[in-house]
Amino acid sequence: MRMLLMCLVVLSISTCRVDTDRLEWSLVLHGGAGTIKPENMTPEKEARIRTALQQALDAGQQILSGGGSSLDAVETSIRILEDSPEFNAGKGAVFTAARTNELDASIMDGKSLNAGAVTGVQAIANPISLARSVMDRSPHVMLAGRGAEAFALEQGFDTVGTDYFWTQQRWDQLESRRKAQKATSEDKHGTVGAVALDHDGNLAAGTSTGGMTNKRFGRIGDSPIIGAGTYANNKTCAISATGHGEYFMRLMIAHDISAGIEYGNQSLKASARQVIQGKLTDIGGTGGIIGLDKNGHRVLEFNTMGMYRAWTDSNGDTGILFYDK
Ligand code: ASP
Repeated sequence: MRMLLMCLVVLSISTCRVDTDRLEWSLVLHGGAGTIKPENMTPEKEARIRTALQQALDAGQQILSGGGSSLDAVETSIRILEDSPEFNAGKGAVFTAARTNELDASIMDGKSLNAGAVTGVQAIANPISLARSVMDRSPHVMLAGRGAEAFALEQGFDTVGTDYFWTQQRWDQLESRRKAQKATSEDKHGTVGAVALDHDGNLAAGTSTGGMTNKRFGRIGDSPIIGAGTYANNKTCAISATGHGEYFMRLMIAHDISAGIEYGNQSLKASARQVIQGKLTDIGGTGGIIGLDKNGHRVLEFNTMGMYRAWTDSNGDTGILFYDK
């Protein structure tokens, strides 16, 4: 009997420790990784990017601190970044080699492991919300192109014309890429993503992108692929990735980081470091990830010059960074 009581005490102390280690809520955002250098930045551009990241943080924080869900925070924060022309997602999506805009997005619920994704959409201003609808209102995980847009209409989404996505910056980037005959995300960053932990201990992750400047039309990257660009599992972590998608798909980066925790008993920090600085770098891939472990502790890992990133949590720890580690 005494033994049993002692066990119960030890058990409750250790459970307590886990609980107090867990943040009430936590939110991390990214706005893409690449050759982000202070010398390429104007004060005006820096201010615009900061303002958008801050607005996205504030909106997500309001949801989470009010007891709302991590899925709502992820979707809301990403919508704000999609509406900003500064990022390669939604309004600011890059052009394909065929001078079209083809947008990809995905979202995942760490509690149920349910997920939704869309790829190659051309007439939807906020692909992250369409991905959420695929998750919540269809029996599928991923819808592509015309099928995704037909579903959007059925769900009451407004459509936008191709001119909505036209920005001088992205057009100029396409012209310079066409001259160099390359598709790239290395120097032209801006994919957006969010990971969140809510009051109920549920993790969520989402990612939205226009892909890579000068990509072939029909090319699909990692961002809408569950396990490559986005992954969330309450047992392990929530991850949103950005970078050269082909490498992230080949390594299933987001799920691989989760697997390091689940099967390798690693911390999120150790697993993310090994995958980004080890595996990704070894095969010549560039980019980064934002992540939260199941207690809401964040990781920001990248092998590029910089990554636009922002965070806030229930302990009042908040920040926005652009450059190096
Ligand atoms: N990962 C995105 C893609 O390959 C691009 C990026 O994150 O910059 O489509």
